[in-house]
Amino acid sequence: MDKHWNLNSIYKSFHSDDFLRDISNLDKEILDLKTFGEKNFSFNPIDTIEEYLVLSNTLSNRLYRLMSFCSLSLAVDTSNKDAINFMDIFRKKSNETVAPFTKFRKWCEKINDLDSLSEKSALIKSHLFYLKEMRDSAKHLLSPETEDIISSLQRTGSSAFSSLQNQLTSNLSVFFNYNGKNEELSLSQARNMYFDKDKDKREKIYHAEIDSYKTVEIPSSACLNAIKGEVITLSKRRGFTSPLEMTLEDNRMDIETLNSLLDSMRSSLPMFRKYYKRKAQIIRGKDKIPYYDIAAPVGEVDISFTYEEAADYIVKAELAFSEEISNFMKSAFDNCWLDVEPRKGKRGGAFCSTIHAIGESRILANFNGSFDNMITLAHELGHAYHGRVLKDESILNSDYTMPLAETASIFSETVVMDYSLKNLSGDNLFTILENDISGAATVIVDIYSRYLFETYLFEERNNSILSPERLNELMVKAQIEAYGDCLDENYFHPYMWINKPHYYYPNSNFYNFPYAFGLLFAKGLYSLYKNNPSGFLEKYKSILRLTGRETVYNVGLSAEIDLHNRKFFDDSISMISDSIERFLTMK
Ligand SMILES: [Zn+2]
Repeated sequence: MDKHWNLNSIYKSFHSDDFLRDISNLDKEILDLKTFGEKNFSFNPIDTIEEYLVLSNTLSNRLYRLMSFCSLSLAVDTSNKDAINFMDIFRKKSNETVAPFTKFRKWCEKINDLDSLSEKSALIKSHLFYLKEMRDSAKHLLSPETEDIISSLQRTGSSAFSSLQNQLTSNLSVFFNYNGKNEELSLSQARNMYFDKDKDKREKIYHAEIDSYKTVEIPSSACLNAIKGEVITLSKRRGFTSPLEMTLEDNRMDIETLNSLLDSMRSSLPMFRKYYKRKAQIIRGKDKIPYYDIAAPVGEVDISFTYEEAADYIVKAELAFSEEISNFMKSAFDNCWLDVEPRKGKRGGAFCSTIHAIGESRILANFNGSFDNMITLAHELGHAYHGRVLKDESILNSDYTMPLAETASIFSETVVMDYSLKNLSGDNLFTILENDISGAATVIVDIYSRYLFETYLFEERNNSILSPERLNELMVKAQIEAYGDCLDENYFHPYMWINKPHYYYPNSNFYNFPYAFGLLFAKGLYSLYKNNPSGFLEKYKSILRLTGRETVYNVGLSAEIDLHNRKFFDDSISMISDSIERFLTMK
């Protein structure tokens, strides 16, 4: 089986006829769009909106396909000159679409009868959510001149601080002295050691990591104060009551859904504390767990896969849920949608990219044969299936937000994990089960601490500048609330606010609760399936189909799930508590 992907169905090459033809098509379409932008829109609203939708859908598909070809080529060969050059060209071409699109958006703000217009046009009707969202979000826009000043100043304000913070952490050295050997590590190398089997190493790296943050705490706190200060100013000016309200609107999520999620998470904390206490017992014979043991591996696994074996395993595991999905994944492997061989010049990690115009995806991974890596493939294939389900939707109706983005990927992981837990035994079962719980515990407990921290941060930043000491205090306060009495009070992690880049993204705040929502939404769906398998697949597909053109709450409602009621989230949590109960009785 080929470990390299095949991009032929996107384009043959950067010099092939199909690629060059698409560039000239794109130029023609940009010209059409500019002509459209010069028209008087009010003359015939239905024609105007329809023309916009057709132009925008066609252009987005074309541009996305061309840019994907560049970014995928770059992902496996970071020095690919053609890809770099063309990417730059396409970015410039994409800029040319901004003015006509903005003019249309501004005009759209004044259309109050979208509902009645949609009765006269099937195309408008099918894009009603998209159009209304565009119209309503325009209400938060300031005048074009002010928006222009804001975006210019952000380049030297929040964006500049964000890249400064990125430079600070990516150049940070962690000085690690172990077994008489001195090493200078990058932050990510240091953080990776929290997964090391050697418990002394974990303890030592913790102290070294904390020491390294002290050298950048002043500039980091300046970055954080600047970015969050700007967010507060802008969210007020745009008419939001808080940065949280702005974030929820961006995520198409309402406060009732967030509150029922948080209620359910809070109730689950005592159960996770029981798990952490047991973990502390197993690792060090103590009642409380230090921060550096939270992600530590427990036990040994002697399972490894060749790439072919991993593919067979996933296809077989998915078969237990759905033949259709299993076949889809098999064809992704057979048609070389995956690039899994680690090699020089290829980027790290894993991702899935869907090219909507052809209804296909490509998956990048760096497969090393571990069980975790096999699960990563299942995760990315879940994303690819999501892309397949959205194939028949227009590209404008396929843009989903963070909370729903991980539905299909975590669902797919859950299917494979459930299959594995049924088929494993002994030490392998114990280790894999613990590993699965550990992942979920981070997404619930640690994410909750990050949500609390960000809430406190915004509250205080409203009236003052926070010193590094104050940020440390707030982080520890959040950790105590989330971890309670299971975390060893001598080993909190006060500097997590420097470690997590999410706090420094100027345009996405509270980039924490969407992870918890994603996990519990996918697990909740799996629990619905377990309780009532018949007809579930159709329900699941219709949920995925709606992710790009409905609010989070309405996506739930389409499958008779009331997300304002915490029961749904409680059922997801109970899947995790079943695993914890099992873990507690095992050793
Ligand atoms: Zn994912």
